[in-house]
This record gives sequence, C-alpha cells and structure tokens, in this order.
Amino acid sequence: MWKDTLFTLIDAVPAQVRSRVVAISLDGTSSTTMVIDRKTGQPVTRPVLYNESRPQALATVEAIAPAKHTVLTGTSTLCKLVAWWMSEGSKLQTEVVMMHQADWLLSLLHGKLGITDYNNALKVGYDPELEEYPAWLTSQPYASLLPLVKEPGSAIGLVGQDIASTYGLREDCQVYTGTTDSIAAFLAARVTEPGEAVTSLGSTLAVKLLSTSRVDDSRYGIYSHRLGDKWLVGGASNTGGAVLRQLFSNEQLQELSAQIDPSKPSPLDYYPLPKVGERFPEADPNKEPRLSPRPDSDVEFLHGVLESIARIEGRAYAALDELGATPLKAVKTAGGGAQNVVWQRIRERVLGVPVSASTQTEAAYGAALLAFYGCKGLIRTSQKSYSTAS
Ligand code: ADP
Repeated sequence: MWKDTLFTLIDAVPAQVRSRVVAISLDGTSSTTMVIDRKTGQPVTRPVLYNESRPQALATVEAIAPAKHTVLTGTSTLCKLVAWWMSEGSKLQTEVVMMHQADWLLSLLHGKLGITDYNNALKVGYDPELEEYPAWLTSQPYASLLPLVKEPGSAIGLVGQDIASTYGLREDCQVYTGTTDSIAAFLAARVTEPGEAVTSLGSTLAVKLLSTSRVDDSRYGIYSHRLGDKWLVGGASNTGGAVLRQLFSNEQLQELSAQIDPSKPSPLDYYPLPKVGERFPEADPNKEPRLSPRPDSDVEFLHGVLESIARIEGRAYAALDELGATPLKAVKTAGGGAQNVVWQRIRERVLGVPVSASTQTEAAYGAALLAFYGCKGLIRTSQKSYSTAS
C-alpha cells in the first residue's frame, strides 16, 4: 500500500512540474519499524506501526540503555526491534537491515538499502549529539541490522533510471534523507529562532520548542531531536481536541467561542482529559479528568475548558524551561484548534508571549523544504563522515 501510494502520488504531480523536480525527500511516522531483506529489498515481516507497543522487550532494553533514555518505552523502535529479534530475528538465515517507513520509501526511489536520518534513528538509540550509535547498542547481537545514519536532508543518490523514465522525472533528480512526520510538520512552520515553538492542537496537545540545549526525560515522554546546531524539544499532554470533541461539535465550538471575551480570565479550573491518565506536564497515569463544576452557560463552560487547556500548555512550556530548555519567546499553532482565534487570544494572555497560527502545517510541506534545503546546500555538513552505503 505504501509503495503504491508513493508512486500514485508521484504520478499525480502534473507532468510539466514532474519534469522540473530536482530534489525529493519525504517523512514517515516515527518508530514505524521494518526489517528488510538486503538481497530482495522486501520486508521479511510486516511493519510494526508507530503506535504499536512491544512491552515484552522493555526489560531487555532497560538492562542495556541508560536511565530515562528515549528508547525506554514499549513503542520505541528499539523495543520493536528487540521484540522481533527475540521471537524470530535471531533464528533468521538471510541478511537483513532495519529501516523506518521513510527510509524504505526513499530507497524505492534511489535503490540503496539501510540508510536513515538522525531524526528517525533517535528512537532506536542513535546519539545525534555524538553522531554515533552508543557502545551499549553496538555491542548487541542485532547491531549489524542498524542502518547507516545521515543528517536529514543529505543527498543519498539519484532516482533510479527506470523510475525517472517511467514517471518522467529528470535523470539528475536527487533523493535526500527524510525525517519524521512531526519534525516535518515543525519544519513546515518555518520556526528558526531558539525560544520559538509550535503547539499542535489536534486530538492531543503537543508542544515543540526550538532550543539551544537538549532536554530528555522519559518520565514525562520528553525528548529532543537534533535540528542542525539546535534541538527540537518536545512533549505531549493527553488534553486537547479529543476532549473538546467529546463535549462539542465543531459548529458549536465556533458558535460558542465567538461569544467568549478572551480578555477576561475564566475562574473555572478544569483538567480536561479524554480518559484517566496524564503524561506531561505531570506524569500521573491515575490522573482523573476534571470538568466540574459545569456552569449553566455553555459559553462559560467552553471558556473554562479552553482556558484550562491553555494553562496546561503554559505549564508544559514552563516545565521545559525548568528542565533547561531555551525560554519561550513565541508560539505558532497547528492542528484543528489553530483556526480558533478566540482561543488564540486566551492562550496569548495565559502564555504571555505572541501566539499566531502557522501558515503551513502539512508535514509534506516540511519534507519538501528539507529537499529544498538539501539541494541548496543549506544542510549543515556533519562533523563526522559516514562510510558510503553499498
Ligand atoms: P488530529 O489530526 O490530531 O486528529 P486535528 O488537527 O484534525 O486532529 O484537529 C481536530 C481537533 O480540532 C478536534 O478534536 C476538534 O475538537 C478540534 N477543533 C476543531 N474545530 C475547533 C475550533 N473551532 N476550536 C477548537 N478546537 C477545534
């Protein structure tokens, strides 16, 4: 399906545009894990999707990885790889390599296996600061499966000649390493200064802050992706649009929001959650949703909910600050909640920094920017050189 979709999309680009494309990159869901046969290029097992968990591997991973490391969650790429290795991988006779969704799709264009980028590689344990896999990982029996890591937006190779001729692409069209979907969405917002952030008001509330320092804390699900010489520090709360959807339709949200005075603070103090449990800014799996007392007026009720979510957003950024990230300067907003200008003004008052909607929020736009940066030579060259992949 992924392969068909990739080529359907390329085919859907108008022919006169396709013939002018000089650079391609793409993003895939982080920690969607594949094991590929090095001879055939085909998966030897079905992909393990980003949100699937492999808790059975957690004890094994805990025994090798440092405390609070990003890999210490059942959904990490490393837990997926280790679980597969324990159940069938170690018995396999064929030569295989681990790849992420984006790596594999890109390989269908350039034809090389086992190349990834350091954003995708983070959750398998790659150290983007030292630009190497740590010794606790390279000493494992499955270390030979780990892909080669490059900077996101690095040239990998030209599109295959057969693909160029079938799809009317240029023979000098270069393929560049990709990134994860959430980083691509962040790149789309064109945030460049440390202290600038993107809050995604989708089903959940996700915050991403550009920082000069790195913050990682698996207790809160906070981790940092490298972006050139800066860090993208991120965390996610379980509050957000999913709760709003349980309470109001999108039409009601628009109609009721228009009647709220955003300059006045709401006295209502809620903790809106779709179900029990919170991760960030407080790590409490037993945290109960709090949506009472409910006033008679729906406008007042919604005001209280929006204000309370804004306070949680504020606490999330304050927590990143306390953990050592660059202090917040400005916020751009993505996701379904970004269209709500009343909420934007409430958030501006609560956060105390300028809040705006970001003009581009599609991850695909960010991936296209990555290809653009790559072909314009704007990607900072890695300090380390990597051996050329076969
Ligand atoms: P996801 O991709 O995470 O499913 P979206 O980015 O599509 O989510 O956002 C959908 C969410 O946006 C819904 O949960 C909905 O409640 C919320 N939403 C839609 N319209 C509004 C609005 N006017 N104000 C606040 N939230 C809204």
